[in-house]
Amino acid sequence: MSKQTIPAAAPMLMPTYNRFPLTLVEGKGSWVWDDKGGKYLDYTSGIATCNLGHAPDSVKQQLKNQLDKIWHCSNLYHIPAQEQLAEKLVEHSFGDQVFFCNSGAEANEAAIKLARRYAQEIKGTDAYEVVTFSQSFHGRTLATLAATGQDKIQQGFAPLAEGFRYLPYNDKRALEQLVTDRTCAVLLELVQGEGGVIPADEDWVKQLAALCKQNDILLMIDEIQTGIGRTGTLFAYEQYGIEPDVVSLAKGLGSGIPIGAIIAGRKAASAFSPGSHGSTFGGNPFSSTAGLATITHIMDNGLIDQAAELSAYLEEQLQCLKQQFSFIKEIRGKGLLQGIVVEGNAMDYVIKAREQHHLLVLVAGPSVIRILPPLTTNKTEIDQFISVMEKVFAS
Ligand code: PLP
Repeated sequence: MSKQTIPAAAPMLMPTYNRFPLTLVEGKGSWVWDDKGGKYLDYTSGIATCNLGHAPDSVKQQLKNQLDKIWHCSNLYHIPAQEQLAEKLVEHSFGDQVFFCNSGAEANEAAIKLARRYAQEIKGTDAYEVVTFSQSFHGRTLATLAATGQDKIQQGFAPLAEGFRYLPYNDKRALEQLVTDRTCAVLLELVQGEGGVIPADEDWVKQLAALCKQNDILLMIDEIQTGIGRTGTLFAYEQYGIEPDVVSLAKGLGSGIPIGAIIAGRKAASAFSPGSHGSTFGGNPFSSTAGLATITHIMDNGLIDQAAELSAYLEEQLQCLKQQFSFIKEIRGKGLLQGIVVEGNAMDYVIKAREQHHLLVLVAGPSVIRILPPLTTNKTEIDQFISVMEKVFAS
């Protein structure tokens, strides 16, 4: 592996991240290398982004071809890769039309804007309120941090954008408060990722979806972390027997090249018209090529079924770990988005795994170790991961 010297501390960067003392310079599949040639098993996938592993050949080849053609041209002109990616997303989802942007927060911004215009332009009401849930995470822009049901994300940014109301997650009784004259949409994650890897209860989701349908309230699913095969289906909503009105995507859609999107049914999508929303970079030839190559690779190579099979094996092995260590309170999650709930500080285990065993995993809140292997991992790597966690827990 190539060796580069990159300064560990960068005082000219704003202090928005607590970075680990590690500089990653190369990645292939489930593995990354640091600037000293150290090799690590990466079970973070760049926080649910490198779903095909690092530098997947099929995406890399398409991107190289695209680099020789055109990188950017604006949305004032037709972009074939963007149109083909939209077609793929529509083919494999409930939706009819797609809007492209660059990140998860922007995708949720687009969803929130669409919901308000849908209520006002299509339904003819002045409803503008979006219901979200406690412990949710929807992004860091002013609207999406207001949508996020966590005080720590909102701290210091008052006044918060108006028009968001929070209900407790997985609470059937609280659904009585879902609908008011002002409600235009509900926005939720089907597994709360940042909030602690908390899967939504199926009955609760079905009841919520039914209430949305009865009241013509848009059901908007944030699949930014759960989408693109992460939970064992292309989209997590498929496992809940519901039909959303809007789905937001980012992270895994571009294999690490920035891209975001919302997919919507025709009726909701019709709330946007020329000039009502836009993005300079959104769906440009380069990022759309990454998205198209990613989805094509997943669907043409049966990666969804493979990920479902691997996640069953991973869950089984995680349950065995739980039986060995009494301080593991719970294993929870869906597919290849799993959380180990521990007594004590999850970060201590994450640090030990990295420093002593060259394994990269994440936390989700103070007591949950979050595991996000690429869909392309295999049983050997899962065994390696489990054996490291055994050592970490045993010490
Ligand atoms: N929504 C969910 C569920 C997320 O997990 C994230 C990021 O972690 C976001 C939205 C925000 O995405 P981005 O960081 O690309 O703006």
